[in-house]
Amino acid sequence: MKILVVNCGSSSLKYQLIDMTTKDTVGIGLVERIGLEGAVLTHRTASGEKEVITTEIPNHTVAIELVLKALVSPTYGAVNDLKEIAAVGHRVVHGGENFAKSAIIDSAVMQAIQDCIEIAPLHNPPNISGIEACQKLMPGIPQVAVFDTAFHQTMPDYAYLYGLTYELYEKYKIRRYGFHGTSHKYVSQRAAALLGKPAEELKLITCHLGNGSSITAIKGGKSIETSMGFTPLQGLLMGTRSGDLDPATVTYIMRKENLSSDQMDNFLNKKCGVLGVSGVSSDFRDIEKAAEEGNYRAKIALEIFAYQAKKYIGTYAAALNGVDAIIFTAGLGENSFTMRAAICANMSYLGVEIDEEKNKVRGVEADVSKTNASCRVLVIPTNEELMIALDTFELTR
Ligand code: ADP
Repeated sequence: MKILVVNCGSSSLKYQLIDMTTKDTVGIGLVERIGLEGAVLTHRTASGEKEVITTEIPNHTVAIELVLKALVSPTYGAVNDLKEIAAVGHRVVHGGENFAKSAIIDSAVMQAIQDCIEIAPLHNPPNISGIEACQKLMPGIPQVAVFDTAFHQTMPDYAYLYGLTYELYEKYKIRRYGFHGTSHKYVSQRAAALLGKPAEELKLITCHLGNGSSITAIKGGKSIETSMGFTPLQGLLMGTRSGDLDPATVTYIMRKENLSSDQMDNFLNKKCGVLGVSGVSSDFRDIEKAAEEGNYRAKIALEIFAYQAKKYIGTYAAALNGVDAIIFTAGLGENSFTMRAAICANMSYLGVEIDEEKNKVRGVEADVSKTNASCRVLVIPTNEELMIALDTFELTR
């Protein structure tokens, strides 16, 4: 049984075809610049051979059409017939309070995803376009929505409510939702397997550190608190996002710099974070290089990041009343041993002791703590696509 995983952005579409018997990816690719000049589909076969198709791709339906054509291509395709694709799993960013789990898409689910556009205006519309395109081109094949927010729906009310008026929560559903849920769930399940203990018995802190970063406290397999909030802007400072601020700075900057709310939104999301502090780049590799060369602003950007992550871990250890393991994942978490070491330095009060040699790993599953450290530190590459495929498989088999 094969499952197609689709992740639609406003002008991009990532896909993977996964064989559920072996859990292997048998076809993978990316469509870029949908609706723009220079649109391109880059497809890779299971063995990594690349096929690049440049053509006009005005919308997501045409993009999906090209993807399906690539998947059945006699020369570089992955299946002989589209009938071999049993179901499609869609990444949907925002499920609001409607979804604590993935769901088979019917008209009620579609309406609920549409209802969330108001709180996810940038993300849910392209997700909907992807679903509609697949419904049109693959009629009768079940479609499943897997939400970034669903895993965090187990947070208790005292964790998700802000210190705003309760009426604003009732009126506009302003509350903490949390994102990267599929990734936090995946790595927490892998951690339980690696630690050889049932998830129900574990207290974990999962650190998804990439362009976007979030940290989650997981008790007994359930998210009880996470650093992103109403939008993915809250929490740690990130590649280009500011993360946590004194809310008063927002109105102060708007007045001082004469910015509209849209301009301020853009500023906080695109120009801040480690890019804004370092003035070098949003990519941690560039910043690490600049810091090594003595650039003060690059050095301080990395220090702020590590310090904020350390504080979140401390807060979540308090919320969990202890921690069995800290898990690092995503681009930075999986690859940067210097960042992992900086975050975990001076955490002996939690029983955290990193083994310098073991920590020198990149992108593989590993326990990087000293043998007798009471809190384990694990590196676990995330695999959101596999998690989406597994949920889709469960719901549709
Ligand atoms: P996204 O949030 O876009 O999915 P990723 O999880 O792919 O992001 O993470 C991308 C980021 O990971 C890059 O911007 C880079 O800062 C960081 N990264 C990737 N590889 C390394 C590395 N070897 N060393 C340090 N940082 C890295």
